[in-house]
Parts: sequence; structure tokens; C-alpha cells
Amino acid sequence: MSQTHSSQSSKLLFHVPIILIVAGLLATLFTAWTEPLIPIGQSVINPEQFAYTVIPTSENQNSTILSPDVGIVAGHYGNDSGAVCPDGLREVDVNLNNASLVQKMLAEKGIKSEILQEFDPKLSGYRASLLISIHADSCAFINEEASGYKVSAALSNPQPDKSARLIACIRSHYASTTGLRLHNSVTNDMTNYHAFNEIHPETVAAIIEVGFLNLDRVILTQKPEVIAAGITNGILCYLNNEDIVTTPTP
Ligand SMILES: [Zn+2]
Repeated sequence: MSQTHSSQSSKLLFHVPIILIVAGLLATLFTAWTEPLIPIGQSVINPEQFAYTVIPTSENQNSTILSPDVGIVAGHYGNDSGAVCPDGLREVDVNLNNASLVQKMLAEKGIKSEILQEFDPKLSGYRASLLISIHADSCAFINEEASGYKVSAALSNPQPDKSARLIACIRSHYASTTGLRLHNSVTNDMTNYHAFNEIHPETVAAIIEVGFLNLDRVILTQKPEVIAAGITNGILCYLNNEDIVTTPTP
């Protein structure tokens, strides 16, 4: 009995180093395996996901941004030319250029965005932190007042507070960045904009007419980076929960 026991003990003692070696090898392998995936001192969480986590302002305690994605509709893109000037300048080209510049500027801030066509199939149930549709106004000479920008949210928006913030952010930053004034005529085409009824109800959306192709042609065609910066600054104001005085959406 004692001999058997002694023999088992010595077997066990013989096995201990093997167990230790195997354990050591496994630990080394595990470390070697995980090291490239989780560099020491770094988080496994992709920092991009949290780059736009905002500290809510006192007025917006419940406002947190879950997704930093922005959808940018390039007005008329993939469908028609939009307004056309006598010399052939097409609204759709102006819109697509603006949309591309906004996308580039957002990317520089680490914000993912995508350009959508006017009637993009993706718009159905579209989910993002916000959707902006970029258009430009008529190239016809209407009168001396036909200058400036317009911005609107949906008429029956299920999230009026968020919409009001987005509109206020865009108005404030677009005006100060571009120097263009607010043209006080939001049309039914804007408030009843088709995409507003297609996207997911939680996606906050706005449509901007960046200026008139006739009287604002110089800035629209020669300073597109200023136009795009105005839109981008408005978007950043909204995403960063910047303090802004909001007025009820029209
Ligand atoms: Zn248009």
C-alpha cells in the first residue's frame, strides 16, 4: 500500500515538471498569440467608435450620439441635372462637388460618411446620426432678393428637438462661414422632401439649398471649399452637441 502510494507520488513528482513546461509553453503561446492583437497599453476597443462620444450639455442630458455616421445626399445625383444655367452649369455637378468636399472634411475629423444618390435605394429606413441633402437654387434671375441659403427639416419630424438643433447648428455655422444670408423662403419642396419620409424615424435630417446658382454663382463655383466648410461646421456643431440657441423648426 505504502509502496504503491510512494510509486504514485514519484509518478506525480515526475509529472509536475512536464505540467509546468506544458503550462509555460501554453502561456508563451497565448502571450505570443494575443500580443499582436492587444498591444500593451492599448485598448481593444476601436477608438474610432468613441471619437465622437460627447459630453452632454446641461440642456441635452439625454442626448448621446450612438453612431457617428453621416449620410450626404448629393441633390439630383443619379437622377437628373437639377437646375441648369444657360452656359451649361448643372446643379447636380455643384451638389456632387459639395457633397464630396463635405465628406472629405468630415473624414479629416474622423467621421465616417457616405454619399447617397437623390433616390438612393439605401434611403429606405436609412439609419445614421444625421442625414443632410445638399441642393442649390435656381439659375434663373428671379429678382435681387434671390440670393442666400435655405435650410429645413421635415415638417412632421418625430424628433423636433434634435431637428431644431441641427437646423440651428447649420444656420449659425453656414452663415458665419460663407457670409451668405438666410433666404427667408422655405418651400414645400423642402419641408416635404421625399427622403424625410423614407429614412428611419430616428435619423435626424435636413435639406440645405446652399445658394442661388444665379446671384451666388461666384462663391458657389469658385469657393466650393467655403460652402462645404459651412455645411461641415454645422454638422460638427450638431455631432459635438455644441451649445446653440434653437428656435422651433418651421
Ligand atoms: Zn435641387
